[in-house]
Amino acid sequence: MAKYIYITGGVVSSLGKGIASASIGKILEWRGYSVALVKCDPYINVDPGTMNPYQHGEVYVTDDGAETDLDLGHYYRYTRSPLSKINNITTGKVYQNVIDKERRGDFLGDTVQVIPHITNEIKKLIRLAEKTYKVDIVLVEIGGTVGDIESLPFLEAIRQMKNESDQASTINVHLTLLPFIKSAGELKTKPTQHSVGKLREIGLQPEILMVRTDRPLEKSSRSKIALFCNVREECVVEARDVENVYEIPLKFRESRLDEMIMRHLKLKKKSSAADRKWTRVVEIAKANKNKIKIGIVGKYIKLQDAYKSVDEALKHAAIANNLDMELVKIDSDKLEKADKAGVEKVLSSVSGILIPGGFGPRGIEGKMAAVRYARENRVPYFGICLGMQVAVVEFARNVCGLEGADSTEFRPETHHPVISLLPGQSSDGKKGGTMRLGLYRCDLKKGSRAAKSYGVEKVSERHRHRFEFNPGYKKVFEKKGMILSGINPKGKLAEIVEIKDHPWFVAVQFHPEFKSRPDEPHPLFRDFIASAAHRLKNVM
Ligand code: GLN
Repeated sequence: MAKYIYITGGVVSSLGKGIASASIGKILEWRGYSVALVKCDPYINVDPGTMNPYQHGEVYVTDDGAETDLDLGHYYRYTRSPLSKINNITTGKVYQNVIDKERRGDFLGDTVQVIPHITNEIKKLIRLAEKTYKVDIVLVEIGGTVGDIESLPFLEAIRQMKNESDQASTINVHLTLLPFIKSAGELKTKPTQHSVGKLREIGLQPEILMVRTDRPLEKSSRSKIALFCNVREECVVEARDVENVYEIPLKFRESRLDEMIMRHLKLKKKSSAADRKWTRVVEIAKANKNKIKIGIVGKYIKLQDAYKSVDEALKHAAIANNLDMELVKIDSDKLEKADKAGVEKVLSSVSGILIPGGFGPRGIEGKMAAVRYARENRVPYFGICLGMQVAVVEFARNVCGLEGADSTEFRPETHHPVISLLPGQSSDGKKGGTMRLGLYRCDLKKGSRAAKSYGVEKVSERHRHRFEFNPGYKKVFEKKGMILSGINPKGKLAEIVEIKDHPWFVAVQFHPEFKSRPDEPHPLFRDFIASAAHRLKNVM
């Protein structure tokens, strides 16, 4: 039987519950335990696949093609938790399952209600992780903030699960905020007291409280929180802001959070070393002072989390090159409106240009201008998914001379559909979960830049798109210097293109950012940054 850790949040959202959960997973792995992390999202969408990045942030894709919450990206980067569609439970999915059962007649005349039918389904889905993955510890992060109407069924389900198991099997770690009030000159504990009060109202008593602060937690505040929130004083853990997010597991370990959890869950002491590689990565990251500026051209730049995995993969790559990453988010809409000099003004300040994935025509011509600038000025370019498709269209128009070339996503009537739906793909129908999703194989062309980066001949990467490179144009492209350096052997689909005569111009149809870790940077990101650094040196 696995042990369960439920992670809830109070006071405000954006406390970094995902990173905190992942970091708890990490310190328990350092103790020799296997973990699986599950995210419960209280919204009614079945998955975040159809949500606007402005509302939701990045959609993280797993090997099995599930479109999931971006917290699963944190779980991947910090831990070895298995990840699949099982790890993300939404209210939409829960209700869909229950309503399907009701229509089939499975409830035999029962009135179907939130308690017990919805809560039973939540419990079943949570336990599926334990059954499938057979890990020592399942960590369940409940999205939203305690007090939200939406998350109540999830909290009720964990209350029941706690009640159904013995005390040493489950704990609740509650994350809150201690705001510093300037005029009073102190950290305030009242919002934390209220949020724990809310939890206790519905029958949940947290065993461990983690409090986010921007300064040290004094003994008096700790005692006060312990007294008013009914937790032991040593179980009030300070979670102070850090310089680098990958430092958090090390900080948690320093505060002996791992031992505290093990004591509560009656877990035997196993090995206890923080891995050296991780510690080293954090040390390097903090020591690096030489900045490299990379421009990310996209349309969701105002939202911090829209390209989360891309941002993190770039940071991992910078660490691997002993550099500090400065991300310059460039609005594709603005580039679209700018003339050549305007584009140059914006892009000449960065050492490399990356265009991430995206959907829809807005800002597309701005992205096209960025690719053209990178190609003509020999600036390292990394295209991801849509970033590959615009690279192909730009090359078709400006190098192959295919006038009006386009993706049929943006101009269905184009005479040169260099990116299009392929035979057998349907252009109509449902939007949710209907793309080419998840892991596909990619064979690399010997001697190509991609093959050199990966250092192997075959790789598998995750996809999330509808449109493809149109193989009818392969010959024209190769003749003009853009080669197909990665091919999916089954569908003969183009997975990677690169320009031969360019310092580093690689564009991929898949999403390599989902498989980068701080201590295992993705080879393509690593070499993109190496090339950008090389250029930086030459320019300086
Ligand atoms: N909109 C493009 C497609 O559907 C690219 C998708 C993406 O970048 N994830 O093919």
